[in-house]
Amino acid sequence: KLNTSMRVDRISDAVWEIAPSEKSGMLVPARIYATPTILEAMDEGVFEQVTNVACLPGIRRYALCMPDGHWGYGFPIGGVAAFDVRSGIISPGGVGYDVNCGMRLIRTDLTRSEVQPHLERLMTELFRRVPAGVGSSGFVRLNRTSFEDVMREGARWCIAQGYGWHQDLERIEEGGCLAGADPSKISDHAVNRGINQLGTLGAGNHYLEVQVVENARVFDRETAAAFGITGHDQIVVMVHCGSRGFGHQVASDYLNVFEKAMRRYGMTVKDQQLACAPFRSEEGQDYFAAMNCAANAAFANRQVITHRIREAFADVFGKSAEELGMELVYDVAHNIAKVERYPEGELVVHRKGSTRALGPGSPALPERYRKTGQPVICGGSMETGSYLLAGTEGAMRETFASTMHGSGRTMSRGQAKKAVRGEQVQQQMKRQGILVKAVSMSGLAEEAGFAYKNISEVVASVDRAGITKTVAELRPIGNIKG
Ligand code: 5GP
Ligand code: MN
Ligand code: MN
Repeated sequence: KLNTSMRVDRISDAVWEIAPSEKSGMLVPARIYATPTILEAMDEGVFEQVTNVACLPGIRRYALCMPDGHWGYGFPIGGVAAFDVRSGIISPGGVGYDVNCGMRLIRTDLTRSEVQPHLERLMTELFRRVPAGVGSSGFVRLNRTSFEDVMREGARWCIAQGYGWHQDLERIEEGGCLAGADPSKISDHAVNRGINQLGTLGAGNHYLEVQVVENARVFDRETAAAFGITGHDQIVVMVHCGSRGFGHQVASDYLNVFEKAMRRYGMTVKDQQLACAPFRSEEGQDYFAAMNCAANAAFANRQVITHRIREAFADVFGKSAEELGMELVYDVAHNIAKVERYPEGELVVHRKGSTRALGPGSPALPERYRKTGQPVICGGSMETGSYLLAGTEGAMRETFASTMHGSGRTMSRGQAKKAVRGEQVQQQMKRQGILVKAVSMSGLAEEAGFAYKNISEVVASVDRAGITKTVAELRPIGNIKG
C-alpha cells in the first residue's frame, strides 16, 4: 500500500526503516517517523529522496524523515541528516532556499473574550505594521554596514536597537545569533534583495496568526505552565517566516558554486539537487559562513516582527506589551545546518523542514525550560490547529534532537489553486470564526486546510515515537498571509 517498491521495515509503533540493501550506494539506513496512516500517505518522492540522502559522504547513523515529510528540493521537507565534520559534506538542498525559516510563539495574558470584540481592528493594525507579500519592504532603514551588523549579530542587533526585550534572547534558538557568520561571503545581489526586508513576513505559507488555547486542548499542564501557557481561552501569536529574498539569494549563489566544486572534488550524487561540498572545503566553509549570515537575518526578521506585534497589541488594548504579558515562548529554526555535538563527535546537522527538539536537562536551554525540554512550535494550517510540543530524551537519543515542523503538504500549490478560490476559502473561514487578511487571493487558495496533512495525526506520530511530547493545541482566530 506504500508509494514505493522498496522494502520498508517496521522498527516500532511509529518508526520505519529502509535498509541500505534497498538502494545501491546507501551508507546508512533511512528512517521515517510516521503512524501507518501517515506512512501510507507519503509520496514516492519521500522514499526516493531520503534514501538518496543516505548515500551522501560522511552521513552518520540514519537519513531521517519526519511525519510532515514530502517531496522537496533534493532533500525531502521534513528531512534530518547529520554528517561528520571531518569526512562529511554540507548541502544547500539540506537547508532549503528559505534559510532559517522558523516559528516563533508569543504568549499574552489576554483571553478570547477580551480580544474578540477588537479582532477586526487588531488584525488591521497587525496587517499594517507587519508588511506581507512577495516584494514587501519593512520600516527598518539599513545601509550595507548596518545590514552586516544584522548578519553578524542576528536578534542581538535588534535588542540593542530597542526592537524587543533583553529576556527575548534566551528564548531563541542559539540566543538568536549564530557564530561564524561572515558578511564578506555574501554577494551584492543578496544584499540588495535583503536590505529593505527586515520586519517583513513574505509570501506563500508565511503567516502571522492570532490563536486561542482552550483549556480542554492543553494536554500537559505542567509543561504548558512552564511555557507560560495557562489555557483559559488564552490568546497567543504565532509567526512563521524566514530570511526572505536574502536567504534565497544565498542559497542560489552557493548552489552555483557547489555545482563546480563537485566536479573539482570528483563527487557524484544521486540527484543534481543534492549538490554538496566537503564541510571542511573552502566552498563548504564559505557557504556555511554565508548561511549563518542569512540565518541571523532571519532571527532578526522575526524579532523586528515581534516588536511590531507588541506595538499593535499595545495600541489596540491601551496597555503596554509588558502589562499584556507578551513574553516570547520560543523561537526555533526549521531550515538550517548547525554543528552540534553527539556521542559520535561533532556533526553538521541539517534540518530541512524539521525542528530542533532538545530534551530535559540540555545545557543549551534557558533555566526555565531545563526541566521540561525545549518548546517546539509546529504550524498546522490556517483552518485547522497548530501545536506546541516539548523536546524529549528520545529525540536526543534517536533523531539528533529533531522532530516535525508542521503538517506538511499533501497537495501541490497548483492543485490546491485549481480546487478552490481564495475568496471561497476566506468566506468559509469567516463562518468558522477565523478572520483572514491576505495580500494575494490565489496565494490564499494554495494554503487551504485540505492541502495539508491532518496535523493531529502528524503530531500523534512524533508523540508515539517518543521524540516529542504534545503540550497544547492552538486554534486560529485571525491570520495574516503574504
Ligand atoms: P514550511 O513552509 O516551513 O515547510 O511549512 C510550514 C508549515 O506551516 C506547513 O507544513 C503547514 O503545516 C503550516 N502552515 C502553513 N500555513 C499555515 C497557516 O496559515 N497557519 C498555520 N497555523 N499553519 C500553517
Ligand atoms: Mn519559509
Ligand atoms: Mn517554514
